[in-house]
Amino acid sequence: MSTSPLSFELIGTDGTARRGRVTTPHGSFETPAFMPVGTRATVKGLMPRDLEETGSQICLANTYHLHVAPGDKVIKKLGKLHTVMGWNKPILTDSGGFQVFSLPKQQLDEEGVTFSFEKDGKRVKLTPERAMIIQNNLGADIIMAFDVCVPFPCDYAPAREAVYRTERWLKRCKAAHDEAQGDQPTQALFGIVQGSTYPDLRALSAQLTRDIDLPGYAIGGVSVGEGHGLMMDVIESTEPYLPKDKPRYLMGVGYPEDLIEAVARGIDMFDCVLPSRYGRSGVLFTRRGRIRITKGKYRADRFPVDPQCSCYGCQNFSRGYINHLINSSEILGSTLGTLHNITFYQDLMRAARSAIEQGTFESFRRAFLDEYLSEDRKDELNLHFTDTRQDHDELSWDTEHSVIPSAKPVKHVDMPEPKPQAPQTTEKPKKDAPRAKSGGAHANKGNAPRARQGGKSQSGKPQGGRPQGSKGGRGKPRGKGPSKKK
Ligand SMILES: [Zn+2]
Repeated sequence: MSTSPLSFELIGTDGTARRGRVTTPHGSFETPAFMPVGTRATVKGLMPRDLEETGSQICLANTYHLHVAPGDKVIKKLGKLHTVMGWNKPILTDSGGFQVFSLPKQQLDEEGVTFSFEKDGKRVKLTPERAMIIQNNLGADIIMAFDVCVPFPCDYAPAREAVYRTERWLKRCKAAHDEAQGDQPTQALFGIVQGSTYPDLRALSAQLTRDIDLPGYAIGGVSVGEGHGLMMDVIESTEPYLPKDKPRYLMGVGYPEDLIEAVARGIDMFDCVLPSRYGRSGVLFTRRGRIRITKGKYRADRFPVDPQCSCYGCQNFSRGYINHLINSSEILGSTLGTLHNITFYQDLMRAARSAIEQGTFESFRRAFLDEYLSEDRKDELNLHFTDTRQDHDELSWDTEHSVIPSAKPVKHVDMPEPKPQAPQTTEKPKKDAPRAKSGGAHANKGNAPRARQGGKSQSGKPQGGRPQGSKGGRGKPRGKGPSKKK
């Protein structure tokens, strides 16, 4: 048996929320952590130095895409992922299972999954052993087990069978991985818990997975259309069975509210394409919700995207300029959108870590969600924290209010006060006092990601659907927060 190349230090807890540090052969990252996704060994549009500037301490690359092009053997010849990407910090690769299971005409048997390459139709079989070899060639610090992903919804019997097959495959992954790594392992293998949305299957899968000694554990099969409420239920039925002294990774999640609510339930690591994918198309996260910067109303807007954001874009450019760049399909627009969104996620994680350290996570969580979510979204998710109805004012918000601290003091772009949309008092709002109603449209209405760019609607009505099945938010009342466990 070899020693693990990865260690986890649990620095503190606040309720179920955890503050930790993961150390890998390429350095440490603080948890709760958000990992930006570099699908083809690049976070689209960002230089690695930009990515570092967002506060990202670890990033992810996708095994399936890199196996297809340029090929994992080519990556190995070029010096493996850290060298190729010019990123000397921790990297995680997935197993490729999630992508393979979503391909048409894939065939599953006990040995593995057979599928056709999208580019040439060639039939290929991916097995647990093969997934380990490919990830060994890529050379990430953390690699993921090849698991059986079931769709949502899924009947009980196939979901149960997938749990047991995932366990058998995990044992094969571990055997292949241990053999390849020998006495001097440089990669840490994480196991994945499945079980669809059945609490007993999640508990079963968590116990079966935990019984195999690994440096970390992940919750898979989420963010597949089940919605926020069911996702939280899945975490709650899994978390009690996961070891306290190992990192927990919620795969492929999600929106800022998903992250904060999952941190409250004991999750340490996240990855998601949302901030980069949205950023490229001009859907930008702000402390007052998402905005679609391509809308006509931002054309002459002289404020930064988020006055509290420390990113290079918010320090130097106006909403109006970014509106122009993205509407003109300028590369810089996508870069600035991505840079801003990933910075927003990293600022959120930093604030969460700080709140856990100070024992104030619960009040931070409430304050963030209260400011960030629109009333509609609070209704949808059953997340209500105050009885006061507040309107989000996209344009002229006070810069001292935000609950997410900036990485450094914000230097303001030289810009005159914009034309107020509604009469405003000169008095600054008191802390925790409800903001004056502005008459402005909700910041995160009407900005659904698939709506057309440059939508002309000024009505504030939603223009499209959400990409995740976020409607299934069957919710228990969350007003009191997640159940407290020690
Ligand atoms: Zn920014």
